[in-house]
Amino acid sequence: MLKLGILWLVLVGTAALPLHAEEYRVRDQSEYVRALKQVRAGDAIILANGEWHDFELVITGKGMPDKPIMVRPEEAGKVFLTGQSSLRIGGEHIHVSGLVFKDGHSPRGEVIAFRRGKDDVARNSRVTEVVIDRFSKPDRFDDDYWVGLYGRNNRFDHNHLVGKTNQGVTLAVRLDSEESRENGHRIDHNYFGPRPVLGSNGGETIRIGTSQYSMFRSGTIVENNVFDRCDGEVEIISSKSNGNVFRENLFLRSRGTLTLRHGDDALVERNVFLGQGKDYTGGIRVINRNQTVRGNYMEGLRGTAFSSALTVMNGVPNSPVNRYVQVDDALIETNTVVDSTRVTLAGGASAERSAPPVNSVMRKNLFVASGEDALFRIEDDISGIAMQSNVLIGSATASEGPSLERKAAKMVRAANGLLYPDDPALEGIGAPRDLKPMELSQVGVAWYAKPGEEERFGASGKVHHVTLGEDTLALAADAAGHGDVLMLAPGDYVVHWTIGLDKTLTIRGAKADNRSPATIRFTRPSLVELREGGNLQLANLTIDGELAPDSVGNAVIRTTAFPLQSNMRVEIDGVSVRNLTVNKSFNVLTLGKGTLADRVSIRNSAFADISGAVVAADSETDDYGRYNVEYLDIVDSQFANLGGPIATVYRGGTDESTFGPFVTITGNAIANVGKTAGASILLQGVQTAEVARNALAASAPIRIAHTVGTPSTRVSDNTFAGTPQPEVQELNYEGPVRVQMSGNVFDAKDPK
Ligand code: CA
Repeated sequence: MLKLGILWLVLVGTAALPLHAEEYRVRDQSEYVRALKQVRAGDAIILANGEWHDFELVITGKGMPDKPIMVRPEEAGKVFLTGQSSLRIGGEHIHVSGLVFKDGHSPRGEVIAFRRGKDDVARNSRVTEVVIDRFSKPDRFDDDYWVGLYGRNNRFDHNHLVGKTNQGVTLAVRLDSEESRENGHRIDHNYFGPRPVLGSNGGETIRIGTSQYSMFRSGTIVENNVFDRCDGEVEIISSKSNGNVFRENLFLRSRGTLTLRHGDDALVERNVFLGQGKDYTGGIRVINRNQTVRGNYMEGLRGTAFSSALTVMNGVPNSPVNRYVQVDDALIETNTVVDSTRVTLAGGASAERSAPPVNSVMRKNLFVASGEDALFRIEDDISGIAMQSNVLIGSATASEGPSLERKAAKMVRAANGLLYPDDPALEGIGAPRDLKPMELSQVGVAWYAKPGEEERFGASGKVHHVTLGEDTLALAADAAGHGDVLMLAPGDYVVHWTIGLDKTLTIRGAKADNRSPATIRFTRPSLVELREGGNLQLANLTIDGELAPDSVGNAVIRTTAFPLQSNMRVEIDGVSVRNLTVNKSFNVLTLGKGTLADRVSIRNSAFADISGAVVAADSETDDYGRYNVEYLDIVDSQFANLGGPIATVYRGGTDESTFGPFVTITGNAIANVGKTAGASILLQGVQTAEVARNALAASAPIRIAHTVGTPSTRVSDNTFAGTPQPEVQELNYEGPVRVQMSGNVFDAKDPK
């Protein structure tokens, strides 16, 4: 033991207890292993400050209720586990605290596992004040959990988890063995920070159980946590077991819902959902038996359908374990829904989901309708939900709702930041007055900063003027910092190597009154390659492809050949792109396999003489529903003489776990486009598409195919000259094709 470096003894004050607990201070992994062999109840292993690279930390042993075995840092926040690192906890009464996982990823299925192996699961153990910061596997579809809870009576509290970009639940409670059921785990006071859109199933922040074990009781408590921008997929939390409690959590700007997906007897109480007007923000989705949803507050939520502020689903008669059990005996009371888009009852009704809710009660809920559309959407018979003393405040547009008492009270913001009616007669209606939304300072750790807002283009405020000539632009791009702007003078720039972009960068042409703006030519197959952390804005430029070589996969902008962890943004405004003709498939933007753009935006731009597509977001080949772009906007632009479509977006598979893709193509002039590809616009599996006010001439047809979900496709107010009518088809849905077509003008001439 003397080899351990510094070892010191701490006397325990009470004579009745054993004489001392030991503290093993360790400086490297071999010292750690030696200390681990000796720890007993009440001892602590203290990791020296600094970086612990490739450290697969394992701790097990028998602590006692008042004498846990502890693993902690010399100073909280000053011990970093990097590279291929992980933590596994077996035994009982073990406490781990104060570690930071960053700059790497777990080589295993979890970053933190509450088990050492199948035969040694943790009991009565605790992980607190641990940070996991962007510790994601490099390939976004190489999956893991950041935290796997096994065993019983474990606590995961005051931790900070931010930026999981790969597939797999952030925190999973597993019920796959007898000793992990009826577990009584407590998950509290954690900061679940931004989790970007995954673009596929498997982006839940918490999942408790799985459909396979959903008949077992978990009894897990999730309370006093903050979920900030948890946007991974449609389920923020997926409860898939019996008897779980979700209490006093704050859901902030998070897309999706707390979903009672499988399992019965949940209690969802006193949670606060603040969407702040962000797309797809939702509240609570109810499925299964004997669920209680009480005293929750929902404001500013923009989700509809399955991500409504409140959704009570229709079920499948005699449902298989992995489908939808009918809602039976639900109690939904004293909740407030204000400034939100939708409440859906008997949601998802279909030939398969034909069993409406039964034996259920909604009472003393407060609904405040403010939007232009109806707040309620009722998709099937709701006579199985007894409506008692529910109050509606607001506009007549909500009149098609269920039987509600109409009131005219004003909503006033109280000291707790939430809205309540000013009418004393409504005292007992809606969410309780004593709710206290969690504050960011109450969750996670004080010593690790919570992330701020997404960085904007030009955020650094630095503008670099780039001189005309050869390679000046590429050199300036390499030298620029995150959020900088490169300003190009009118005249010619030639780029001889591909700009590898790993930062947020704007390339902008200076205003040039009588002269043409800056023109960029490039002699490699691509001008820009988007890498990890790369976001690109192009403005007021001309890009000419005449010097590019003939190469497979030519594209002005492409992603790396490797999957990217981070979602990227590309904005093109006031840009003219021409002469991409050296071969038959020269694209403007190609998004490769395993990459996801949060947004691609093209405005006020012109594209002419291009052999390929303008936006190719169709790299998926295996139909897992892993698409390449969440929002695509192509607005007020001109397209002439394109072999490919102006956009090809592909979202395959039949999974229902994502919101996107979301495509807007409006106000464009489209001439002689898509003859090589057979389509001027090609969308498959897009969830929301608006194609409006475009003028198409002598072009191939618009082709749209729906796969799953409830796609919304609108094709309106377009003119078609020498262009066939749009072709819209349903690949899985039996019934009339779901498309709104209106105000389009067709002429009969065949395109030539
Ligand atoms: Ca899911």
